[in-house]
Amino acid sequence: MTARSAPADAPVGAAPDAPADARPASPVQPDPGLLADWARRVGALSDGIRALLAVVVAEGGPAVADHFYGVMLEDPRAARYLDVDQVRERLKPSLQRWLAALLAARPGDIDALQATQEHVGQVHARIGIPVDLVARGGRMLKDDLHAGIRRHAGSDRLALDAIVCADGLVDIALESMTRAYTRSREAAGQVDGAFRLFSLIQNIGTERERQRALLLTWENALIYALTSEHPGPPAPLQISRSEFGLWFLHKGMASFGDTTETREVNLIAARMDSILRARLPEADTIAARRELLDELRAGADAIRSLVTIMFDGIGDLESGRDALTRLLNRRFLPTILRREIALQANTGRQFAVLMLDLDHFKSINDTHGHEAGDRALKHVAALLVDNTRGSDYLFRYGGEEFVVVLGSVSHEDAKAIAEGLRNAIASSPVALADGSTLSLTGSIGVAVQDGHPDYERVLARADAAMYAAKRGGRDRVVMDDGDLPDPPGVRALQH
Ligand code: GH3
Ligand code: MG
Ligand code: MG
Repeated sequence: MTARSAPADAPVGAAPDAPADARPASPVQPDPGLLADWARRVGALSDGIRALLAVVVAEGGPAVADHFYGVMLEDPRAARYLDVDQVRERLKPSLQRWLAALLAARPGDIDALQATQEHVGQVHARIGIPVDLVARGGRMLKDDLHAGIRRHAGSDRLALDAIVCADGLVDIALESMTRAYTRSREAAGQVDGAFRLFSLIQNIGTERERQRALLLTWENALIYALTSEHPGPPAPLQISRSEFGLWFLHKGMASFGDTTETREVNLIAARMDSILRARLPEADTIAARRELLDELRAGADAIRSLVTIMFDGIGDLESGRDALTRLLNRRFLPTILRREIALQANTGRQFAVLMLDLDHFKSINDTHGHEAGDRALKHVAALLVDNTRGSDYLFRYGGEEFVVVLGSVSHEDAKAIAEGLRNAIASSPVALADGSTLSLTGSIGVAVQDGHPDYERVLARADAAMYAAKRGGRDRVVMDDGDLPDPPGVRALQH
């Protein structure tokens, strides 16, 4: 089960909507310790405590939610996210449902509860809710729960037990949320900061060659030492002491980040150094040293391949562009949408998301070959550039799917731009390599941002509109006016 399939209730100032995009964010690995704590806490709920908490939530829930959002709105940072009527209207009932589900949990509910908290944490991260506000929300909830419990419990003993149980459950929910929140923020921060890190590596091409040369220099020094009469002590020959090793430690890791490749390079280098330290002092024949040398050189080969992969990856990242179409890579879409949402909050300028999926593209590949398909994709990318403004952002979203973020547009502007694009695609056939031409059409869904703080929401709406355009017969534009059903991808995740 993914975090996305959880009921999407977000209690603390977040937007409790079904997420848009059918591709889930990387799931947070369940922490066995946390799951054990959930089990212990839920197991501690006796029938008496359950009954008491149910009364407290049923009778006090609406007041708790009012108080909660009342205090939240006093904080200007929270007001920024919550000051949207439709968001607020949904949040109060959603907070009550969240609390009721949490305090009535049964052992069989733990996985779903955990997934819900993770989803909420991810929503908070996308919206950028300050984590201290979430902590404050938790504190307020507990205060209100304590008061309710004292009012309804017949005895001090029951009240105390119920307070301990309720606090434990709220705390563990907050911890799960914070865990997902931190992870999501870190991932987003890595993408946001990707470009900044390039200041560490001035020129990717030059740096790649320089590091490959330094690796060779180290290898040559090793060959020289190990094939000579007196190789000397192992320490100066270690790869971690080499100029390459130092560069990797100080700059390489900082630039490439914590990836499979950087971890692998570290592992291989550590293994090579430990082999060298252990075996060199005992390798007293040329033959033994040659054997050691072969092993170390195999390690260096592996590192060289990994470094090449790392630099190639950073090359794509550097441009942030899709290699085929030269449009923006979809990984930067959240960065751009977050920025547009903030811009709208600060300046009132509306933006729109346009989702384009080419029609019957599979049959183009099947009939004319993959190369013709690629040509068609480049052709469409060029049409997108020609039919949008310099301030718009163009993304390759998937195989034959594109997303355009239109800044500072009205509903009518967005519709006209989308219609212009649809028309451009339908009326300019692709010239194929053999001189023939190929007609294309695309289905376009458009959603104008409605002030909702979660960027996934506007994407989901554009996606739903695009599916509606497909259902309506393709080669058309559908504007989302807020009443479209969810796209199939989202439904599949919810059920
Ligand atoms: P629909 O009108 O419903 O969108 O039909 P479709 O055939 O376009 O939809 P579907 O998603 O089934 O197929 C998309 C196809 O796009 C599948 C794949 O062969 C093709 N495709 C995806 N990426 C590329 C690419 O980079 N190059 C080429 N040539 N084809 C691609
Ligand atoms: Mg498609
Ligand atoms: Mg298609």
